Amino acid sequence: MQIKSFEDVLQANIPVVLAKSELHVSLYLIDGVLIDTGPSREAEMVASLLSQWEFDQVVLTHHHEDHTGLAPWIQKQKQVPLYIHEKGINLCRKKAKLPLYRRLFWGKRLAFEPEAISNTLQSERYTWEVIHTPGHAIDHIALYNREKGWMFGGDLYVQPRPKSMFRFEDVPLLIKSLRKLLSYDFTTYFCQHAGIILDGKKVIRQKLDYLMSTQQEILFMHNEGKSTKQIQQELFPKKHMMNYYSFGESSPRHFIHSITHVIE
Ligand SMILES: [Zn+2]
Repeated sequence: MQIKSFEDVLQANIPVVLAKSELHVSLYLIDGVLIDTGPSREAEMVASLLSQWEFDQVVLTHHHEDHTGLAPWIQKQKQVPLYIHEKGINLCRKKAKLPLYRRLFWGKRLAFEPEAISNTLQSERYTWEVIHTPGHAIDHIALYNREKGWMFGGDLYVQPRPKSMFRFEDVPLLIKSLRKLLSYDFTTYFCQHAGIILDGKKVIRQKLDYLMSTQQEILFMHNEGKSTKQIQQELFPKKHMMNYYSFGESSPRHFIHSITHVIE
């Protein structure tokens, strides 16, 4: 685990390795606000860090297990509120039902009781705007710090040109959310997987442009009468490890389906 500081932010970057794949997930601490908790797979390491970090509230960008894994532990150990978008509350109240590869990669996520976040959040020095940004997950939020011009974007960015989507992802909604994000005046962007990005607007715009042009291409091919399989072969010919690991939960097919709404 690597701890970095950036002005008054602390970032803990946790590497998670499975077979030949390595993924990273970050938690951020700023002004007494912990943003996401890390996965339970690294529970001991993260718990010892969190026992040292001082925070009086926790904000979860969404309910996924790599962001909420330690939330049940925090709830037991510390008397602090855990906030999530209202659409995530019921998902967190029961133990997460995860496919095997996610359980192996990130570890399980037990039940806990979060509270609904409102439109703004107050910390000692800052006022935060809470922006509902579904697409990757229905309860996904971004946190905007107007004083600093900083955006904490959860899993909205991750990478600029994804070739595959998860079954639960929705590309048109993602496009809408990225557009919403760009209506805010921000510089630095804090990603939960790609880390701290100084020219934040540029990378969000890149991703938005890529998704919009790919959406156009998919719709064009679909209107020409091409099947999902044909579109996939033309636009996304390469197979990725994650497509195999996930037994199809992550696949270019879901990218196409979420746009054409044709399930074949
Ligand atoms: Zn996620």
